[in-house]
Amino acid sequence: MADNSKGIAIVGGRVIDPSQDIDRLATVLIKDGVMEEVTAKPLAKAPDSYDVIDVAGQVVTPGFIDVHTHLRDPGEEHKETIETGTMAAARGGFTTICAMPNTVPCQDNANVIEAVLKRASEVGLVRVLPIGAITVGRHGEQLADMAELAAAGVIGFSDDGDPVADPNLMRQALSYASGLGLPIMNHPQEPALTRGAQMNEGPIANRLGLTGWPNEAESSMVARDVELAALTGGRLHECHISARQSIDAIRRAKERGLNVTAEATPHHLTLTDTWVLGEHGDDNGVVRSGAYDTSTKVNPPLRTQDDVDALIEALADGTIDLIATDHAPHAITDKLCTYQEAANGIANLETAFASVLSLHHRDAVSLPVLIERMTAAPARFLGMDIGTMKKGSTADITIFNPDLDWTVDPSEMATLGKHTPLAGTQMKGRVTTTIFGGKVIWDIAAVAPIG
Ligand SMILES: [Zn+2]
Repeated sequence: MADNSKGIAIVGGRVIDPSQDIDRLATVLIKDGVMEEVTAKPLAKAPDSYDVIDVAGQVVTPGFIDVHTHLRDPGEEHKETIETGTMAAARGGFTTICAMPNTVPCQDNANVIEAVLKRASEVGLVRVLPIGAITVGRHGEQLADMAELAAAGVIGFSDDGDPVADPNLMRQALSYASGLGLPIMNHPQEPALTRGAQMNEGPIANRLGLTGWPNEAESSMVARDVELAALTGGRLHECHISARQSIDAIRRAKERGLNVTAEATPHHLTLTDTWVLGEHGDDNGVVRSGAYDTSTKVNPPLRTQDDVDALIEALADGTIDLIATDHAPHAITDKLCTYQEAANGIANLETAFASVLSLHHRDAVSLPVLIERMTAAPARFLGMDIGTMKKGSTADITIFNPDLDWTVDPSEMATLGKHTPLAGTQMKGRVTTTIFGGKVIWDIAAVAPIG
């Protein structure tokens, strides 16, 4: 095990740090928990003051940042705790996660924010940055005390799980948050267009007899939010974009120079609504025995290949600024039920990176761009000096083997949420080591042999 007084020398790896335009074979030196140097010079004589990690054939990047995680703590610790959630984050290569406010009680006041920060620092595994609720109790009726929440340390505001349906309230929220220099992170879903909706609207929903959820339920609210951002000058962030029409609206907003950003999840970038038919999306028009797999039920729903293609293109060209997980753990009983009764959400902190790495493996998005969307881009969104390997910055590092084959086994995941449509799926590429503040917090070799 690492001796804390020692530094760490990571040798032999391909270092990709988009914040500095670095992509080359290099040695990474860490000392006293901060970045000392990224050097192309070989470490001829490893000084005794460094523990050497040999990562030949692997990739070394700044620690991943997730701006959209559900930790369920306080109040629903049977679904996830700050301890299990941050452990899952570490295994997935994330050194910073932003905790959504739909806890019980919800993160709509300073007391709850302080409790989350205190618990996260006791656990001490990764950086946890809380998000404050936009409205009291997330009821969508009255603004929360946003100044109090900002003073308590939230990085933005969201009623995620629910939209801010009232446009006047949204206007006020954007105005107030703008005065505090923080973003409004909206969950775009027009409630009147999604009553009773279970999955993406289209032929597959018809075949399965499930109520459809149209793309326009999302894109109409994105368009509304963009206009309100223009009206107020506020900072708008759209969560988990899934529909081609929403991407078009965000692209136009950026062309107008508005302060608008957007995220996409690993599942919306890689899976389609054919997965609801069963057999991992192997669609030849047949309803298989694995149909109605509740682990595919998510909000917004898995869309069509046309939407996935639009999302990947938007990720590559920067219209989608960043990848966020929307890790949403639930109890087993929330998913062991009918499709109609099942809770929305996928537990994906530990599979997120392998999922999006598939975009690199099939040449849809380059590796440096993919890493940028998980490090430098979310750091920019947060306005923090993380997601970088610049000298003197905190030593948060993720190391992955891009070619490691493995099979998703939910029973081996650290998260308490065991529901993932990827269960049993072969993946290519896996995070092998995660370092937070100069300390190794995940080392796959300590758990399972590589290969
Ligand atoms: Zn949401």
